[in-house]
Amino acid sequence: MVADDEAALPPGAPGTDLLSLHESIAGVLATQGDWRRAYHHLKSAFDLARAGSLRDTLTSSFNRRYLDQWLHGPDFERVSEPGLAIALVDLDLFKEVNDTFGHLVGDRVLREVADLLQQGLPAEAFCARYGGEEFALVIPDVDAARAVRIADTARVRVARHPWTRIRTGLSVTISVGLAHENGSEPMKPERQLRRADALLYMAKRAGRNKVAYREKESSQVIPRSGPTAG
Ligand code: GH3
Ligand code: MG
Ligand code: MG
Repeated sequence: MVADDEAALPPGAPGTDLLSLHESIAGVLATQGDWRRAYHHLKSAFDLARAGSLRDTLTSSFNRRYLDQWLHGPDFERVSEPGLAIALVDLDLFKEVNDTFGHLVGDRVLREVADLLQQGLPAEAFCARYGGEEFALVIPDVDAARAVRIADTARVRVARHPWTRIRTGLSVTISVGLAHENGSEPMKPERQLRRADALLYMAKRAGRNKVAYREKESSQVIPRSGPTAG
């Protein structure tokens, strides 16, 4: 059906991306009085626009808007045992990467880190760009021990990535603050983010390239020593 509709487009129709295409087709169909099919294409254009509005343009990962919607939506409220983990991830000394190799290399690093973070997540989890060089990992249905393993695997994956393929001398690590909650107290997204942020700060203070989390009422940092990947 789309192929037929495309044939109906006037030569030089504006826009080549899918969204513009649907919009243009809807316009043509509307002038022909074919409202049902015009609506179908406008709906497709709208769905694409809505999906796009929830993605970060640089990294294609979900964006802050998606994260906020998720945290204030029904999925968050449904959280119970084994719990929900939120990990805040910050690239280490990223300003130096920009200063040494330039912003375009910095942008590429951000894209690759986003891919690496997404790779190791369970199907129901997601990675969102939280801001600048920070990402949030949201991992539902996970206990604390598994969440720590997932976060530390992400840390090691980034540290071991062959960054020198991009530029000689380039290395990239991340620090992670991991807050796990199991519904034993009322779930509050802002509080969990605040906890993750405080733990991220601890991971930085501990020397970077670390995961900080809370266990049995005390804060832990792994790996316990050494600034490089274990
Ligand atoms: P720390 O380990 O303490 O986090 O050090 P840092 O250098 O990573 O932190 P700082 O806050 O000093 O610098 C963050 C840098 O991230 C500065 C900013 O230019 C860079 N940045 C933020 N967003 C982007 C982006 O979209 N592209 C690029 N290339 N750089 C970005
Ligand atoms: Mg930062
Ligand atoms: Mg940073």
